[in-house]
Amino acid sequence: MPVSEAMVQDIVKEVVARMQLSRTAQGAYHGVFADMNDAIAAAKEAQKKVRVMTMDQREQIISNIRRKTHENAEVLARMGVEETGMGNVGDKILKHHLLADKTPGTEDITTTAWSGDRGLTLVEMGPFGVIGAITPCTNPSETVLCNCIGMIAAGNTVVFNPHPQAVKTSIFAMNLVNEASIEAGGPDNVACTVEKPTLASSSVMMKHRDIPLIAATGGPGVVTAVLSSGKRGIGAGAGNPPALVDETADIRKAAQDIVNGCTFDNNLPCIAEKEIVAVDSIADELMHYMISEQGCYLISKEEQERLTNTVLTPKGLNRKCVGRSARTLLSMIGIEAPSNIRCIVFEGEKEHPLISEELMMPILGLVRAKDFDDAVEKAVWLEHGNRHSAHVHSKNIDNITKYARAIDTAILVKNAPSYAALGFGGEGYCTFTIASRTGEGLTSASTFTKRRRCVMSDSLCIR
Ligand code: NAD
Repeated sequence: MPVSEAMVQDIVKEVVARMQLSRTAQGAYHGVFADMNDAIAAAKEAQKKVRVMTMDQREQIISNIRRKTHENAEVLARMGVEETGMGNVGDKILKHHLLADKTPGTEDITTTAWSGDRGLTLVEMGPFGVIGAITPCTNPSETVLCNCIGMIAAGNTVVFNPHPQAVKTSIFAMNLVNEASIEAGGPDNVACTVEKPTLASSSVMMKHRDIPLIAATGGPGVVTAVLSSGKRGIGAGAGNPPALVDETADIRKAAQDIVNGCTFDNNLPCIAEKEIVAVDSIADELMHYMISEQGCYLISKEEQERLTNTVLTPKGLNRKCVGRSARTLLSMIGIEAPSNIRCIVFEGEKEHPLISEELMMPILGLVRAKDFDDAVEKAVWLEHGNRHSAHVHSKNIDNITKYARAIDTAILVKNAPSYAALGFGGEGYCTFTIASRTGEGLTSASTFTKRRRCVMSDSLCIR
């Protein structure tokens, strides 16, 4: 069979790709640099190549990222738990499959058109260039992979400053993304980072002239830092989601949904139920089902005090408690709990520190409200104006509407566990960057684009 020019080109591409991939075999990961300036320069070069790829080629990279995420879901889950000590492997595996299946790709990049007597006008979504991304230790590889799918689908490349406590897992995820690009005939370094991310490397990124947009996923400190950087910022900040339960709810199911949502990945997701506000008439019944059917362990006043002193130090959250299982937390205060225990519960006032603080641990304080209006007021107070997530169990649509308006969050899940918001047992797409503070809500590829108007005057209208 004669060898055509195109076939030769394909063979060369394949050989080059294999040579590049072999770097991994020698122990070095793709996209990792000693210096942040070099990481940004490499991502800039890569973006020039991504910019001229067809949408089909971009989608091929995305499809490779999805496949690699599925193939490596367990490895990534284990790495994340081992490195950070947070969360649990089973749920982290599910999170990786979810993001691989449900994070939007190039189909999210759409065009708006007007045509009429004066011609044709399009508004297209173009890339920003190199995006700076700051990622948390609570969902390290999940956020890196999810950000990469959206940002690359939109035609950008990305430089990460990941949480230092999750750097190995984050780098492993970025390496998969670069392999996915190379295997699709795209460039290396579509996702870059530094060997040792620090506040200093983050500051270089935030000030760098080649970074026009920064996406920060983390607590209030990082979001404030990014929004003060003088660049455009997407701020996906902290939450403290209350689950409100009224007297019309299916109380038994509400108990199950709330505990399932709260204990998922040991309460690490920012959207997870962090406390309950229940109207007085059903509060005891709800607590009964949580304890008798949902593996909840009721702690006494004295145990609450010991837990508070263990979990909250004068310097803030005790990091050794974040994302730990209920049994581990109980063992830290000298309680040997049965193996079926998955959540710690108690009743308290809304000001109780284990209720008002965002803990990211399977601890659910229940606040009693005298009626629905009182419950809404308490839940709004507990959400602290984060405008992030809230949940409700009710069959009264007037109540649900009133609550939704009052709490004004990016996410409101009704009659389901919180993870339904991410498309897990609910409709809609997945993301691990929920831009609560800056209002984009659940981010996707289109969030990472600039709107560009393209006008053809007096022509191309063929109606
Ligand atoms: P964190 O705020 O400690 O760290 C997040 C990232 O920000 C890390 O990479 C960290 O190194 C960096 N960082 C922190 N302070 C900084 C500063 N002043 N300047 C520059 N970088 C800084 O948060 P975490 O413990 O890794 O994650 C948990 C927090 O993130 C929770 O508050 C949770 O609600 C929030 N979170 C929000 C979302 C969302 O989509 N809205 C998703 C996941 C986590």
